[in-house]
Amino acid sequence: VAEAALAAARARIRAGGDAAALLNEVYSDHGSVRDRTGFRIGDLVVLLQAELRLDDAPDAAATVLQDLVTSILNRRWVLGQATEPTVARRALDLLPTSFEPDWAARARTQLKNRTDQLRWAEAVASELELLATSVKVPDGEIRYIAGPDSTTLWGIATLRGDPYLFAFDLAALLDQLQTTASRSTANDADLVAELSVSRQPSEGALVRRSLGPYLQFVTLTVRHDDPVALDLQKARRRSVRIAIVLIAVFLVFVGVVLSARIVGREIENARMKADFAANVSHELRSPITQIRLKAEALQLDLCYDDDDRQAHYDAIVNESERLSRLVDNVLDFAAIERGAKRYNIRSDDLLEVVSLQLDSTMDTLRGRGMEVAVDLPEDLPPVWIDREAIGQVLINLLSNAAKYGAEGKWVGVTVENTPAGVELSVSDRGIGISEEELPLVFDDFFRSTDPLVRRKKGTGIGLAIVRYIVEAHGATITVDSEAGEGTTFTITFPTTPPPEV
Ligand code: ADP
Repeated sequence: VAEAALAAARARIRAGGDAAALLNEVYSDHGSVRDRTGFRIGDLVVLLQAELRLDDAPDAAATVLQDLVTSILNRRWVLGQATEPTVARRALDLLPTSFEPDWAARARTQLKNRTDQLRWAEAVASELELLATSVKVPDGEIRYIAGPDSTTLWGIATLRGDPYLFAFDLAALLDQLQTTASRSTANDADLVAELSVSRQPSEGALVRRSLGPYLQFVTLTVRHDDPVALDLQKARRRSVRIAIVLIAVFLVFVGVVLSARIVGREIENARMKADFAANVSHELRSPITQIRLKAEALQLDLCYDDDDRQAHYDAIVNESERLSRLVDNVLDFAAIERGAKRYNIRSDDLLEVVSLQLDSTMDTLRGRGMEVAVDLPEDLPPVWIDREAIGQVLINLLSNAAKYGAEGKWVGVTVENTPAGVELSVSDRGIGISEEELPLVFDDFFRSTDPLVRRKKGTGIGLAIVRYIVEAHGATITVDSEAGEGTTFTITFPTTPPPEV
């Protein structure tokens, strides 16, 4: 529009129009606009006005041209739109040679310098633009660039369409960044931060990072001031970490093993309890059946003679004893498990207790074809015992000796006064106990897997009860056995009262 207006004004002036009025109108409407080649319409109008008046009023026209040149020289020139020098040169050419020659010469020199600068700036700008990476800012973008060995950081800003060129002192800038960086890492005195524009990888750097997006050409390198110490520290940390992992693995392993053991033991316990229930029922059934059969035979008078009848009576008594022993054991075991079993422990004569018990069981034992060898001392210091409980211990040991005594069925009962205390031993020459099962015989519900044992009836609580009773007395029990040779159980009673009595 501006160009068309100027062209129209020119045509009308050529046709004889009022030049001053026409040009003033164009100036006021489009003065600050540039045409397609970059010329300011205002400049062109002023130039034209002066040109038209040169003949009529050379002085006034020269002053206008002088003002135009001065204004152009004082103005900021824009890269890429360097039309100003052309206008200024044309204005200077139009000036009459007599008009202020000194000023004109100065203006020409100034114009030349500014034109050179513009050309140089345009060349640099286009060259830098090829290399730089750009950063978007609100009104345009800024490109920063510095060569690998450069001491200057160039910034080309394009803001609202106008390019600007800046140069920064790169060394000073890096110094300042360095100070800031070292201030922010000061709390870790072992670390050194360095800024550089070199792209060479530096030795021993912990971290290298470019300061993008604004300062991509600057690299921040962090290194340890003592790499040897750092390596040592790293090695130590690695060992600690490995140790922690190993410990964790070990703990997990121990945990798994322990859990497996606990679970295994629980399963074994459950199995033993199930066996126990089956064994108790079985043990109850057989004496009851025997008693019933014998009693019925007597009731129906099916015996041959008096001896046969007597044998029936004896059998009933024996089976009843067996039954009551079993019931005693089961009830005692239950009471012990509940923690309800109390013993009446007092200073007593062990010889008397052993003799009484042997007297009452001797007939039964002999009746079962057993040879009983008793070895008791003449005299014995009193020991701290519960008569009934020790009687039960003796019965359990004797009945085991009878059960597992194999052929021959020899049983030895010995009481001895030793420096360790008074010892009561029950021995047999039977099937013995294997070395692996020896530590288990006192466990609740334990029964050997040996078929010779399994053939005999049993519940697996006899020796457990013996152990509980012995422990309640503050006494000790040991077992000495060899498979196929025989077994000896020895209880050592202290002659002093147990702690809780
Ligand atoms: P049970 O009712 O099975 O006899 P105990 O608790 O009395 O239960 O004995 C546990 C296990 O110890 C027996 O099953 C047997 O394997 C072993 N045992 C006990 N006494 C003897 C012994 N005198 N000779 C051989 N083994 C024995």
